[in-house]
Amino acid sequence: MDLQHWLGEASRAVERWQGQFGPYQPHPSTAVGDEQFGAALATFTERLQDNYPFFHPSYAGQMLKPPHPAAVVGYLTAMLINPNNHALDGGPATAAMEKEVVASIAAMFGYGEHLGHLTTSGTIANLEALYVARQTHPGRGIAYSSDAHYTHGRMCGVLGMAGTAVPTDAAGRMDLDALAAVLATGDVGTVVATTGTTGLGAVDPLHEIVPLAARHGVRVHVDAAYGGFFTLLAGTGLIDPAPWAAIADADSVVVDPHKHGLQPYGCGAVLFRDPSVGRFFVHDSPYTYFTSDELHLGEISLECSRSGAAAAALWLTLELLPLTSDGLGAVLAAGRRAALRWADLLEASDVLAPYQRPELDIVSYFPREPSLSAIDAASTRIMQEGMTAAVDPVFLSVLRVDASAMASRHPEVAADAEGARILRSVLMKPESETYLSDLHARVSALARPMTLL
Ligand SMILES: *Cc1c(COP(=O)(O)O)cnc(C)c1O
Repeated sequence: MDLQHWLGEASRAVERWQGQFGPYQPHPSTAVGDEQFGAALATFTERLQDNYPFFHPSYAGQMLKPPHPAAVVGYLTAMLINPNNHALDGGPATAAMEKEVVASIAAMFGYGEHLGHLTTSGTIANLEALYVARQTHPGRGIAYSSDAHYTHGRMCGVLGMAGTAVPTDAAGRMDLDALAAVLATGDVGTVVATTGTTGLGAVDPLHEIVPLAARHGVRVHVDAAYGGFFTLLAGTGLIDPAPWAAIADADSVVVDPHKHGLQPYGCGAVLFRDPSVGRFFVHDSPYTYFTSDELHLGEISLECSRSGAAAAALWLTLELLPLTSDGLGAVLAAGRRAALRWADLLEASDVLAPYQRPELDIVSYFPREPSLSAIDAASTRIMQEGMTAAVDPVFLSVLRVDASAMASRHPEVAADAEGARILRSVLMKPESETYLSDLHARVSALARPMTLL
């Protein structure tokens, strides 16, 4: 789609809408001359060049990519109006869109009745879920895996709750025996299962965690901030469907449309299976909630002002790439296939080794060196040389793993340090699939010892 054309169409549609309210002149205090604007814009676009090429498949580092053009048009168009999804007073159209996209996400997870809304981020979405967990299970703590996002430990501090890190197994998943021991103490009220850890993309065995938690009267929250949209691949044979099917039985779930949902930053989501938890958000506002007796989203959210444009962007995107295996699912499937193929190539490589088999689209790997210190040095050298190369740069990220985690996967590596940085590539762009041979060749060349050149 031609972005410039559709941005023009969209801004003209907003101008037509504005026209019905009669003539109006912007105030001279905000007036800016074209020459002045051109100069500022030139400086601005020059400064924006200081960025990594997130759009290009040679960027195979962190969880970063630009939004879909439909999301850009949806966001910018709604931004010309600037609705605030706090209350229906602030933008009825985008509030309705928000309810619709949240209902689509609920359907994807197999939630029938639900309560949910978009948030500014996965962090705030998880905070709301943990806040509700504290209210439903007062005086009891939260358990999460040692590979869970650091936000859970930090938010336990914010909420004044005890947080317990449960060890992971040799695949980076929450260890069920360790969890059973933690739950047996009776101190934990909620388990956070991560379906797709941020580091390795490991998927906690939610289908086993749910019945275990039920036996202890413990609540289950799923942090699917990164992995949630992989639910769309549950029937494709590309991933193990069991943990994804079990989200329907969990009490709450978080997913970030600004990660795998093709959205710009500022779009997370939290959903609760039991709508009655809305009672924990109850408040009145002397300013708002006057235009309608229908649910105002601010009445079920800890955040007040929220971007209506974020809801608009997601709504327009999902009209075109719906939450089906052939819609948005096809985008994730390509990255998943790329990850599987790269794992096979790494297995066969004489210079690089897979750290573990990817469960989603995050590939972890390291230079075949004999010790942790040598792996650490070679990984950081490859990352640095890759991104500063004058020709065909490649952009990778590193992940710190500790000695015991390496030993459980690769006991032959000498543990001469507390841990090592290894290489990590999030293949979240579907373009990664066609680029994969080039990527593997580039990283292998960087990994090859200089003496062989
Ligand atoms: C990214 C992520 C978060 C934090 O979400 P933000 O949107 O960055 O605030 C939490 N949990 C997991 C598993 C994540 O991948």
